Amino acid sequence: MAKIIRTQRVKRARSLAKKSAKKANSTPGTAKRSLKAKSLKAQKPWTPAEIREAFERFSRANPEPKGELEHLNPFTLLVAVVLSAQATDAGVNKATRALFQVADTPQKMLALGEERLRDYIRTIGLYRTKAKNVIALSQKLIDDFGGEVPRTRTEIESLPGAGRKTANVVLNMAYGENTLAVDTHVFRVANRTGLAPGKTPLEVELGLEKVIPAEFMLHAHHWLILHGRYTCLARRPRCEVCLINNLCRWPEKTV
Ligand code: SF4
Repeated sequence: MAKIIRTQRVKRARSLAKKSAKKANSTPGTAKRSLKAKSLKAQKPWTPAEIREAFERFSRANPEPKGELEHLNPFTLLVAVVLSAQATDAGVNKATRALFQVADTPQKMLALGEERLRDYIRTIGLYRTKAKNVIALSQKLIDDFGGEVPRTRTEIESLPGAGRKTANVVLNMAYGENTLAVDTHVFRVANRTGLAPGKTPLEVELGLEKVIPAEFMLHAHHWLILHGRYTCLARRPRCEVCLINNLCRWPEKTV
């Protein structure tokens, strides 16, 4: 009899221990995170009419949105975009204003040389690698493309220091193609709003291309960047003044 009572006590103690371990693992942060994940999953996707409405609002507010990287021609745009990796547009502009006065073609950039180029751009992060790339891409433009910035994504991506994002920006801004570069702002806005959720920039880019009506594609890149840079800020989104706050699916929006 005593043995039976002892076994029952051990069983009860084990079950209590299991319950309290489960409770301990469920910290408020974990609970909040899983709630957020659940509520994000539960969001209804945007309807085509809502997406059209959002871009009509962007368009009415800013019919001709402009990128903020200063440039003089397709070559200086390409150089500015290559220099802007992990740097702010304002920081790049500060350096390139003087640089582009002396080197606005691949030939002039080669004549300037890597060492003097470094002096112009030393305030920009990773300037040594970037200077090397700008000289190498200038050489390649002369050797393979007659000194012109090519017009296809594959060709632009073949240039040193230029990836898919660079190619998309150049094709869009220099040649008026309907490409959509996904930078940190576009990535955040697409995911947060639920417009085109994705784990990688490429996934977001393809998602946005699929849902944005063709007539808005040319400017979509700039509308989304500017929205992320000035309204849907990373830390404190300004939901109260946001043009699309009634459409946005973010569970944590403040309106
Ligand atoms: S409502 Fe807030 S979170 Fe949603 S897009 Fe606007 S600023 Fe961003």
